Amino acid sequence: MTRIKRTNRVALTVAVLAGCSLHLLGCAPVEGEPVAPAAAEPEAPKAEAAKSEQPDQASQGAASTGKYSPVKARARDFYAPNTEDLGPDEMRLVACGTGMPTARPKQAASCWLLELGNGDKFIFDIGTGSAERVSALQIPYNYLDKVFLSHLHTDHFGDLDALFVGGALAGRQKALRVWGPSGATPERGTKYALEHLRKALTWDLDGRQGLTDPRGYHMEINEFDYMGMNEIIYQDNGVTIRSFPAIHSLDGPVSFVVEWNGFKFVFGGDTYPNKWYAKYAKGADLAIHECFIAVPDMIEKFKFTPQGALSVGTQIHTAPEAFGKVMSMIKPRMAVAYHFFKDFDTTASISDRIRTTYDGPLSLSIDYMVWNITKDDIRVRMAVVDEDVWPPPATEKPQVPDPSKRIPYSDEISSGRLDMKKVLQPTYDEINKQYGTHEKQE
Ligand SMILES: [Zn+2]
Ligand SMILES: [Zn+2]
Repeated sequence: MTRIKRTNRVALTVAVLAGCSLHLLGCAPVEGEPVAPAAAEPEAPKAEAAKSEQPDQASQGAASTGKYSPVKARARDFYAPNTEDLGPDEMRLVACGTGMPTARPKQAASCWLLELGNGDKFIFDIGTGSAERVSALQIPYNYLDKVFLSHLHTDHFGDLDALFVGGALAGRQKALRVWGPSGATPERGTKYALEHLRKALTWDLDGRQGLTDPRGYHMEINEFDYMGMNEIIYQDNGVTIRSFPAIHSLDGPVSFVVEWNGFKFVFGGDTYPNKWYAKYAKGADLAIHECFIAVPDMIEKFKFTPQGALSVGTQIHTAPEAFGKVMSMIKPRMAVAYHFFKDFDTTASISDRIRTTYDGPLSLSIDYMVWNITKDDIRVRMAVVDEDVWPPPATEKPQVPDPSKRIPYSDEISSGRLDMKKVLQPTYDEINKQYGTHEKQE
C-alpha cells in the first residue's frame, strides 16, 4: 500500500517500507517538499523504520501495543470490493484496464471506474477485456450507466458491447448512457460508431426480446465536439465533466476533466504530449495520462521494427520520458501512468525513463490498482477480487418479460425440437411451487 499525504512525510516512509517498490509503484513526496534524486530508491535507516511504524500500527488497533499477536488479525492492506463505504468527501478510482489493444489475462485494455462520495459512478473508456474487471467490483449495474470514451480505438471502447448487453442482463434497468467525441467527418464520430454497433447487435438484441427485463437494451448516445476546449459536456448532481482535444492517430480523441466537491480528476486518452493537457490538467488531485512501452521493449518484446517502434512509441503515443515531462508541468497530487505491459522486465525501464523528467508522486498502474482520494490523503492499494463473482442484485424490481414480444422460430427450425416435456416438467413444478407462479412449457 502507498499513502501520499499532503503534510505527513512519515507516511511516505511507511509506504516505502511497507513494500512499495519504486519499480512496481513509484512514490515520491508531494509538491513543495524536497524530493529524493530521481531514479534512486530511498532506503530508510532501520531506526527510522521502527519509529515510523508506530503511528500506522497504532491506528490498526490489534497491534497497538507494538507487538504482533499470534491469534489476532492484523489490518488488511488490500481492497476487497463491496466491503468498504465511500466517505462523502472521498473519491475511489479503480483501474479496470491498463494495457494494450492485445488484451491479456493480466491486463485488459483501458478502463477506469471513478466512484464519488455523492454516489455517482463514471466509467472512462471500456477497452477490450475490461467488462470482466468491472464485474469483479460487485457494483449493481444500475449504478454503471455512464461511460465516457476518449476515442474510438478498440482498446478504449472494445468491450462496450459486453457492458451494454451483459449489464442489461445483470440488472441495468435503464439505457446505457455513452459520451464520446465527434470526428473530422460524421463517419469518424461516436454517434456513427455506436449506431452501427447497435446494428451489429441486431441478432443478439432481437433474440432477447420477451425473455428478460427489456429496459437495459437501449443506448443513449451523447456525441460532443472533439474540438471543445475544456468545454462542459456533462453537469449534474454537483459534478462537472469537461473535454479537450488530444493528438492521436486522427482528429477526434479527447481527454476529460472531472470537477466535484473541490476535487479535480483528469483522464487522458491516447495522445502525443499536448498543450491542452498541460494547461487544463494543471494541479489535478489525480491525473491519468498514457505512457507507452519504452521503445527498446517495443522492438525486443513486441517485435516492432525500429522505425515502427519510434513512430508509434514516441509520435502517436507518449513515451515514458515525455510522460514525465508532462507531469512535471502539471504537478498533480498523484500521476498515474498506463498503456504499457507491466512486467518484471519492463517496469524498470518505464520507471527509470519517467524519473529522468519527473520526481513527483507516481503510480505505474496495473489492473485492479485502487486509489482512495481525500483532501489530505491518497491511499494506493490493490484490489483482491473474487473470481467466482455473480452479478449483484438489481437495485429495482425486475420487470417480468412479455412472452408475446418473442420473435418465433420458423416452422422448419421449430420442428427440430426433441420432446423434453416429461424431463423438464419437474423443474416447472419445483419453481411454480416455490415462487407461487403458474408457468407452463411452450
Ligand atoms: Zn488509441
Ligand atoms: Zn490505446
